[in-house]
Amino acid sequence: MSEMIPKKMRALVLPAPGKHEIQEVPVPQPEAGEVLCKVRGVAICGSDPEILRGGLAGRWPPAYPFIPGHEWSGQVVALGSGVVDLKAGDAVAGQAHKGCGHCRNCLAGRYTICEHYGRPESGQRHYGFITQGAYAQYIAISVKSVNLMPKTMTFREGALVDTAGVVLHGLELCGVTPGGTVAVIGPGPIGLITMRLARALGAARIIAVGRGARLQASQMAGADVQVNFENSDPVKAVREATEGLGVDEAIECSGAAGTFRQAVEMVRKGGRVSLVGVPTDQVIEPLPFKYIVHNEIAIFGARANPNVSRKVISLIAAGQLPVADLVTHTFPLEQFSTALDVFVNRRDGVIKVVVEPNGTSPSQ
Ligand SMILES: [Zn+2]
Ligand SMILES: [Zn+2]
Repeated sequence: MSEMIPKKMRALVLPAPGKHEIQEVPVPQPEAGEVLCKVRGVAICGSDPEILRGGLAGRWPPAYPFIPGHEWSGQVVALGSGVVDLKAGDAVAGQAHKGCGHCRNCLAGRYTICEHYGRPESGQRHYGFITQGAYAQYIAISVKSVNLMPKTMTFREGALVDTAGVVLHGLELCGVTPGGTVAVIGPGPIGLITMRLARALGAARIIAVGRGARLQASQMAGADVQVNFENSDPVKAVREATEGLGVDEAIECSGAAGTFRQAVEMVRKGGRVSLVGVPTDQVIEPLPFKYIVHNEIAIFGARANPNVSRKVISLIAAGQLPVADLVTHTFPLEQFSTALDVFVNRRDGVIKVVVEPNGTSPSQ
């Protein structure tokens, strides 16, 4: 494939905190170790609206103008120097983080908790948060932050690889008991993927905790028991569904106040809690300290998706982790404001919205 790469592209640009517009900007050049990709699909993340509102200005992003977007898929169109294992035409799925590569955590493979986070001079990148992102027709990105997709996968599925990777990392940290029971708090996109992935990893029973349309959606993700926290105490309901013992693992996917403690009190003695949903800085949780000690409750904070994208791609391609039906809406980049409104205000049964900067994506 050889395709003319234009000099200019359309991108969603934040010119200042709280503002966004579609602009014509230069197509970036891939530097050493980077590829230039034509972006086919970008999923709106739960973290995007706050970045767009400007509520995190100075941190995410550190400066303006800025192009957000980090859950994407596309095609390689040009290579920077030193790129040996990708070629033009390859379909890839992106991931947001790239570590510095040389701090203790990066050397141990834990690059989403890079000790040089936020210092680009170290080589650290966080695309769509502190590094220019994917709501654009093209993105220049490190080879470490793209993963080859097989021909059988669509770009819309590829746009969900980053999100699904966040789930897989959270589940890898706490482990999933084969034949066990998992409680999932917060049946949004992350929670629904958690239910499917926990099943794929061997859980026999899934208990979904939520409310409204999203709790209903947990049925399609295979929840065996649905607990509506609006009309029952979720801890009591989960214990009743497990002969009083509690679940093997509880996965917190909402980031909402109050749910951390619920997760702790839902698991069995020796159970494990994984915190995947991202709360705001204001959420400070009171926890039953002694209970955690005496029952050996293990708690894992999970940040993003280190070293899981390839596994996720294989699971999706093999049909073990269906994600296509979670993309309920697609929009061209020009209709970004509408796409954001549908996502933020949960219109029309929305689960995931994929924005397509280069028009309706071919299946590949
Ligand atoms: Zn995301
Ligand atoms: Zn590092």
